[in-house]
Amino acid sequence: MNPWENAQQTLKQIGEKAKIDPNLINVLLNHDHKIEVELPIVMDDGETKTFNAYRMQHNNWRGPYKGGLRYHPQVSLDEVKALSMWMTIKNAVINVPFGGGKGGIAVNPKTLSKPELERLTRAFARELAEYIGPDKDVPAPDVNTNGEIMKWIADEFGDKAVVTGKAIADGGSEGRTEATGYGGVYALLGVLESMNIKPAGLTAAVQGFGNVGTYAAELMVKNGIKVVALSDSKNTIYSNDGFDNIMALVEAKSKTGSLANAVKELNIECDIMAVDDVLNIEVDILAPAALEMAITKDNAESIKAKIILELANGPVTPEADSILNDKNITIIPDVLANSGGVAVSYYEWYQNRHNENWTKIQVLEKLENQMKAAVADVLAISNESNLTLREAAYALAIKRIAEAKPENN
Ligand code: GLU
Repeated sequence: MNPWENAQQTLKQIGEKAKIDPNLINVLLNHDHKIEVELPIVMDDGETKTFNAYRMQHNNWRGPYKGGLRYHPQVSLDEVKALSMWMTIKNAVINVPFGGGKGGIAVNPKTLSKPELERLTRAFARELAEYIGPDKDVPAPDVNTNGEIMKWIADEFGDKAVVTGKAIADGGSEGRTEATGYGGVYALLGVLESMNIKPAGLTAAVQGFGNVGTYAAELMVKNGIKVVALSDSKNTIYSNDGFDNIMALVEAKSKTGSLANAVKELNIECDIMAVDDVLNIEVDILAPAALEMAITKDNAESIKAKIILELANGPVTPEADSILNDKNITIIPDVLANSGGVAVSYYEWYQNRHNENWTKIQVLEKLENQMKAAVADVLAISNESNLTLREAAYALAIKRIAEAKPENN
C-alpha cells in the first residue's frame, strides 16, 4: 500500500459510513492538475544531476490550491496525490478559504550544499511560476523545507503572497513556525475538555523531533503534560520524569546531530532506545509527528496510548485505524490535529494582502480559537452521527466543500 492507495481507501470507506453523496467522493478521488517536471541541476562539482519534482493541485472550490512543498527522497507522485487531497479536506475542516495542493522534490536536501539547494529550488520555482500565484496556488513549507526556501520561490515569482511560511523579515507571520505543533496541542486540549480530562499529569510520547514535534512537546510541557518519550530518525529517548526543557534539546540536537547526543551534552539521565520504541510506550497520548504510515497493521496492536494525536499527515494506515478504533483509542485525525500550520498560513496570506502585521499574541489567540472551533464542529458531528473523529472531520469537510461547488461543475 502506498499513501495514495490509503487515502483513496479512507475516502471511500468514510463516504459509505457517513452516507456522503458518491458523486462528491468521486470528485475528491480525482485531482484537477498534475505538474510533474524533471529538474537538471549543475552540482558544485560540475556534474549535472536530475531531480523529479511534482505539484498536485487537487481541488479549488473553496479557494486557491494551498499546501506545502516537501524535499525528501521518498517524495513520489502518489505521495503528493495523497497529501494534496488531505490538504483539501484539512483546509475545509479548519475553515480557511483554500483548496488543496501539495508538491515536492525527490531529494535528500541534507546531501546538498546551500548553493545547490538554492539552484534546485529556484529551478523548481521557475517551472511552477505559471501555475502558482496568490489567487491560484500558494505553496508553503513541509518536511525539510523552510522560510529560506520560501523566500527563494517568492523571489523568483516576484510577489511575497505567493508563498506562506516565510521568515518574519521576508513578510512571514508571527507564530507560523510554532503553528502546527501548537495548533495540535490546542486541538488536544479541546478534545480532553470534551472528555472531562485535565491535561496536567497526563503522559505523552512524541515521534519526530522536527518543527512540528518540538513545538507540540513544548506546549504539552507548558500545560503540565509529562513528555516522557521523544524520538528522532535515529533513537527514542525515554525518561520517567519527563523532559522539561524541550527547546534546550532542540538547540543541543542541532549542535550535536541527534537526540541521543543532545541528552549526553545536557547531562540528562534517560534511556536511549530504538527508534520505533516510541510507539509502544505506555502513555496517555501518543503524537506521531514524523512521516505517513508510521502506524500500520503490523504495529497497531502493540500501541498502549489512550489518545493518538496525528501531527504528521497520514501517520495511521486505514488497517491500523480500524485496529486502534477496536481498541477504543481516540484518534485526533491529521486533517484536524495538524491544521494549525495552514491556519496561520492563511493569517500570513491575509496580512500580506492587507498590509497588516499581527502580534504573536494575536496570532496564537486566533489560532487557539480557530482550532477549538474546529474541534467543537467535529465533535458535534461525531456525537450526532456516531462517527469517529476522522469520519466526522471528513463529513464536515466534504459538506463545506460541496457548499462551495461552482455553478458549472
Ligand atoms: N505543510 C503544512 C501541512 O501539511 C502546511 C501547509 C500550508 O501552510 O500551506 O499542513
